[in-house]
Amino acid sequence: MGVSASGYLRPVQSAELSVAQESRLRKACPGVGLTLEPGDRPDHPLWGPYLSVHSGHATDPALRQNASSGGALSALLVHLLQSGAVDRIVQTGADAALPIANVTVLSERAEEVFQAAGSRYAPSAPLAGIEPLLASTERHAFVGKPCDVAALRALGKTDPRVATRFPYMLSFFCAGVPSLSGAREVLSTMGAPEAQVRHFRYRGDGWPGHAKATLEDGTEQRMSYADSWGGILSRHVQFRCKICADGTGSFADIVCADAWEADADGYPTFTDRPGVSIVMARTRVGAEVMEQAVTGGRLSLQPFDIEGLEGIQPGQTQKRRFTLARMSALRLLLRPVPRYRGFHLARNARRAGLRGLTRNFLGTLRRAIVGRL
Ligand SMILES: Cc1cc2nc3c(=O)[nH]c(=O)nc-3n(C[C@H](O)[C@H](O)[C@H](O)COP(=O)(O)OP(=O)(O)OC[C@H]3O[C@@H](n4cnc5c(N)ncnc54)[C@H](O)[C@@H]3O)c2cc1C
Ligand code: SF4
Repeated sequence: MGVSASGYLRPVQSAELSVAQESRLRKACPGVGLTLEPGDRPDHPLWGPYLSVHSGHATDPALRQNASSGGALSALLVHLLQSGAVDRIVQTGADAALPIANVTVLSERAEEVFQAAGSRYAPSAPLAGIEPLLASTERHAFVGKPCDVAALRALGKTDPRVATRFPYMLSFFCAGVPSLSGAREVLSTMGAPEAQVRHFRYRGDGWPGHAKATLEDGTEQRMSYADSWGGILSRHVQFRCKICADGTGSFADIVCADAWEADADGYPTFTDRPGVSIVMARTRVGAEVMEQAVTGGRLSLQPFDIEGLEGIQPGQTQKRRFTLARMSALRLLLRPVPRYRGFHLARNARRAGLRGLTRNFLGTLRRAIVGRL
């Protein structure tokens, strides 16, 4: 993997691929396509297959405070480690050499899970070093973006090591990955010279907390979540994410999200308060882990009505409804698009309204023609 000129992580080909390697990659790549098979699970047109939906938080108040929303993901990971279900967690944390960037972290202790908690709105590639982990004798829980989990799940269809080495896959709702230039714009807007930044967090330390740069001299610069994500980072999200049908982690055992509260106009409010995560168990394995984490006292949960998600996740709702219009514009220009099955894209598009669909179709067409994809 290498950082491109525009600040995204991109694969760098270092050798010719054999036909077999090429075929293995194509079968696992979510950019080529995704096939969702709900089986006998309830299958919501917007939110995908699920077994249960709750809201809640880590019972450890320090973890809840440090994490992104309620620390539910981290609480589940701590449970998996401390119950002996896994030896290691594969997750993403800050890069000590470039604190706005990410590195893949292998956590073996609760303190390491604590350190890696929190959302990092920058490119990550947690599958880049997967081969030695597949070849190891350890059992892992994997945490990644929905596309990371989809790729690992798909790899498992042709590689039996995935099931034994990665028995648990966790994810979070994902609005898309901004380039590193997004973080650089946050730094310059908050007046933090990049060369002097010792630590950088995108949010957390409260819900949603602040983007926070700690400088060499110990001083801190902060920016609200509404200004950092809403005002800057979301404008740096790569185009690939605009045609992603699975920002909701459909292939994970458990997926977590922000349980935002909505205002009178139905839009999420970002007033700081103790964090609350949505916890959606999608598989039997996920439901069992979630129940064990509750019984073991690590996670506090209450039932959440899945129909309430639309009001607090407008970004995900729109993404699912507009994906077909955006992809149709690209198809018209004979550009390659992912092949999605099982995401109810036509049904979702019908609920989007003609105006929104036309705007997204024409907007994508214009971007493609002027070369801004
Ligand atoms: C790029 C991005 C987009 C997001 N978009 C949405 C959204 O549209 N709606 C929504 O509700 N929530 C979104 N989230 C997720 C949300 O911010 C929280 O992660 C989620 O609410 C779970 O919170 P938690 O406190 O339970 O997780 P925590 O306990 O804080 O755990 C977070 C876990 O995510 C891992 N992680 C953090 N950043 C990355 C990364 N870049 N790549 C891979 N793994 C990472 C950490 O290693 C950690 O294991 C997004 C997160 C990211 C990173
Ligand atoms: S929006 Fe989709 S493609 Fe983009 S990072 Fe998130 S899961 Fe991956």
